[in-house]
Amino acid sequence: MTRESELALLKQRLQEIDDLRGAGSVLGWDQATYMPPGGAESRGRQLALLSRLAHERLTDPGIGRLLDSLEPWAEAQGTDSDAAALVRVTKRDYDRATRVPAAFIQRLSEHAAATYHVWERARPDNDFAAVRPLLETTVELSRELAGYHPPSAHPYDALIDLAEDGMTVAAVRALFTELRAGLVPLIEAIRARPEADDSCLNGKFPESVQQVFAEKVIRAFGYDYTRGRQDKTAHPFMTKLGRGDVRITTRYRDDCLSDGLFSTLHEAGHAMYEQGIDDALDGTPLFSGTTAGVHESQSRLWENLVGRSLPFWRHWYAPLKAAFPGVLDHVDVETFYRAINKVIPSLIRTEADEVTYNLHVMLRFDLELAMLEGTLAVADLPDAWRARVQSDLGVMPPDDRDGALQDVHWYGGIVGGAFQSYTLGNIMSAQFFAAARRDLADLDKQVGAGEFGPLRAWLTERIYRHGRKYTAPEIVQRATGEPLSIAPYLAYLNTKYGALYGL
Ligand code: ZN
Repeated sequence: MTRESELALLKQRLQEIDDLRGAGSVLGWDQATYMPPGGAESRGRQLALLSRLAHERLTDPGIGRLLDSLEPWAEAQGTDSDAAALVRVTKRDYDRATRVPAAFIQRLSEHAAATYHVWERARPDNDFAAVRPLLETTVELSRELAGYHPPSAHPYDALIDLAEDGMTVAAVRALFTELRAGLVPLIEAIRARPEADDSCLNGKFPESVQQVFAEKVIRAFGYDYTRGRQDKTAHPFMTKLGRGDVRITTRYRDDCLSDGLFSTLHEAGHAMYEQGIDDALDGTPLFSGTTAGVHESQSRLWENLVGRSLPFWRHWYAPLKAAFPGVLDHVDVETFYRAINKVIPSLIRTEADEVTYNLHVMLRFDLELAMLEGTLAVADLPDAWRARVQSDLGVMPPDDRDGALQDVHWYGGIVGGAFQSYTLGNIMSAQFFAAARRDLADLDKQVGAGEFGPLRAWLTERIYRHGRKYTAPEIVQRATGEPLSIAPYLAYLNTKYGALYGL
């Protein structure tokens, strides 16, 4: 067989795996939007079957043989070639998938489903004891999962590597230590200033009007509705069902403006990344965002760097006021801008402002590592959580509902490897935006005129179109000309919040 026909055969196999996953995404999307509760059991079975079939096809030794045979030829095409990237990334996925026994995957996914089921009731009941034995097993299984991967400096590097290729516990710890040293004095300075008034965000904001307004904004961003749609859900997410079909889900509350609007901008940021990938990569493992951190950088960039900026609202505030007649009449744009950027230490990570958000991530990262390392017993987690929230944020959770039970992480999958990407995304979002501002001299003026085409084109050229062709460090280096750095992020926070709070 010629190399070209081997490559064609590999692509055909990969396309089928991608189609199986796409079918799973369709069922998952439906499950989270329109499925009646009665469908839960059969849907769980259907999803498990599709993911097993996809896993079996990916771990087929025939794929391994094709990859071995193609590797030298693909490398000879040049490291930057699509062929070399395809073989490199598929091999990484193949090696990862084949290292873990299918029976373990089955055990882990059954345990995750059972834990999620118990957590769903335990949170409203404030019943940590109900999930404790399950979480103990989750910690065991997470250690076991890490153990299937090659040994590295820290036993849990493997779990981080699954979300962020090449990232390690040591690298994340170093970044977080540096970031914390910059954040803590900023938070203290803000707390010494009068609290911002955000009462204008609570009022009568009919859901349907919010949805129309948010849709107008994300259409202007460039989210393509001929290749996407928006539906309602309990916990907003973005999902790609296949080429030309990248959907977002949102939720709106009639009595609150910011929740629905900013989560829509956030999910649209994820979706535009997926919509911007080069169609030539379709059907291969390259046809998706490169890592969880880079993905999050794109959602945070549109949500925060653009959507919570003053230039953005100089353009959009008049249309917003017009959409809700009478509600914001006596609120000027500066007051509104201060309200949507209010910094206040809080209990729930997903509701935290830009400045305190990262402390929530660091707390989760440290606590989960302590559980994995065995220095923190699961039984002691709620107390450890309370102590940490109090020392870091100066607030005290009244119960575990707003503490160790607050979100589905840890109760629907493994412990370890997810949280770092939220903060890495924040750091990268500012680094990318600073580089875009350097390249597009009029960026602020464009945003202030409601003109997002140049920014989107910049992101498409530097980030979106490559999909998984490059790793996160490579994307950062290529897009900004520098390695990952927290300096642009701290500069962004200090400038923005310094002006907002008169520091
Ligand atoms: Zn996100």
